[in-house]
Amino acid sequence: MTVYLVGAGPGDPGLLTLRGAELLGRADVVVHDRLVDPRVLALAPPSARLVDVGKRVGAVSPSQDQVNRLLVDLGRERAAIVRLKGGDPYVFGRGGEEALALAAAGVSYEVVPGVSAATAVAACAGVPVTHRGVASGFVVVTGHDMAAPDSGVDWEQLARTRCTIVVLMGVSQRSLLAERLIGAGRATTTPVLVVERGTQPGQRSRRTTLAGLAGLDVESPATIVVGEVASLRLSSYEDRPLSGWRVVVTRAASSSSALAALVARAGATVVEMPVVEIRDPPDGGAALREAAGRLASYEWVVLTSANGADRLLAEVRDARSFAGAQVAAVGPATADALRRGGIVPDLVPGRFVGEELVAAFPCAPTPVTGSRVPALVLLAQAAGARRVVADGLAGLGWTVDVVAAYETAHVRADEASLRALEGADAVVFTSASTVDGFLEAAGIDLVPPVVASIGPVTSAAAVAAGITVHAEASEHTIGGVVEALCAFGRERRRPEVGAHRRPDDVTVAPGASGVGR
Ligand code: SAH
Repeated sequence: MTVYLVGAGPGDPGLLTLRGAELLGRADVVVHDRLVDPRVLALAPPSARLVDVGKRVGAVSPSQDQVNRLLVDLGRERAAIVRLKGGDPYVFGRGGEEALALAAAGVSYEVVPGVSAATAVAACAGVPVTHRGVASGFVVVTGHDMAAPDSGVDWEQLARTRCTIVVLMGVSQRSLLAERLIGAGRATTTPVLVVERGTQPGQRSRRTTLAGLAGLDVESPATIVVGEVASLRLSSYEDRPLSGWRVVVTRAASSSSALAALVARAGATVVEMPVVEIRDPPDGGAALREAAGRLASYEWVVLTSANGADRLLAEVRDARSFAGAQVAAVGPATADALRRGGIVPDLVPGRFVGEELVAAFPCAPTPVTGSRVPALVLLAQAAGARRVVADGLAGLGWTVDVVAAYETAHVRADEASLRALEGADAVVFTSASTVDGFLEAAGIDLVPPVVASIGPVTSAAAVAAGITVHAEASEHTIGGVVEALCAFGRERRRPEVGAHRRPDDVTVAPGASGVGR
């Protein structure tokens, strides 16, 4: 079989190539470096074996020979092997050596280039490595063996070029680097850019000069860029509204992390915390199954969550059973779940809350005199959910079959999740049950200083528990709540830690929904 030498890019999963993503998505084994972002590794199927061959300071890590042998052995098996390396596999990645070892053993391989830190890290920190009139070229060197006499880098010559010098693996030797370049004639005032964790949520860039480089505290991995371009400041990942924030995302244990991805896009480091679990309703789903078997008897089918829609669709054997019924969805996520099942909802209210659904709902038809057939609505929702839709529809003259489609249960947070909460800047609540789940798992003292809520029902649950809400979505979707938090972030206002009160001294905050109060 073929071994694919795939470049994972510098961190941001959006910078992985399409070909890389495709190969990862069907890999049996992924042999990866330490620097590869976990969100990129998450693209491998759950069944894939992940082998970490990363080098760690102070730990025994496999030698390059051992890695080569492992790849050859795996390549001889009948399996799809991805050798995933940070950045580009052939830029200081020893990918060339692995390719040669595979070729020597007669194992076929293919290289999938990646976006290299050599250019991408500077770019995402607002510096182009070439710029008309400023730098007409760039050189990429390793700072790793700088002290060795045979390092292979001619610093004298390098210092004389007007090219930008990009130094990878140069953190520990940065004072020697500055010394060499100054010694070879570069001005002490030459601008220098240092970028730590480039393109990753914790990206931090600083600008200094050759004279200032040695005195800068720098953590690996970092890229050092020397040259006049380093004084440019174009748009940077650090300009994103939640850059530098740690944001806790509460969600159901099984749900996808679309919310996490959006929060990360806005620049934050995401702490995922599953606080609720979606499980069968108390009757094991019997009522839902029964209702799904006689959809023809309903005039309307009403769904108030994507979970409810998914569960109902799973019970429906033939989409034609819906033919006689109109379908209403409380919001776009619910509507999308229906569409995935081939059902286009007839009604989605303008604002995505139960009250609006009721307001937009038609009145029940006046019964034909003498008819004893009631106008029936099926409302499939979470066990124990609010009565607002059921009561509202009954008020419109409908006979409502309220059926529990699922139940949300709280899950216990493990020690690691609780530790991850410490120092978090914000939390996003996407339902009242995530508020309750969070409080049960972590308690009010661990509620981060900034709280964002998806809508008024969720905010009310938070306020009732003594939690101040700082940002509430005006469109009650995950996109809307992330936007509300970003709007808050743009104002760069971070309330003090411990701003939340305990439930016993709560006065309901007026206008708790006011964004950025
Ligand atoms: N093959 C990789 C480079 C491997 S050498 C590539 O093409 O990107 C590893 C060095 O790359 C690190 O020591 C650091 O200097 C740089 N580097 C890799 N990822 C980085 C990141 N996210 N931010 C800053 N520098 C990074």
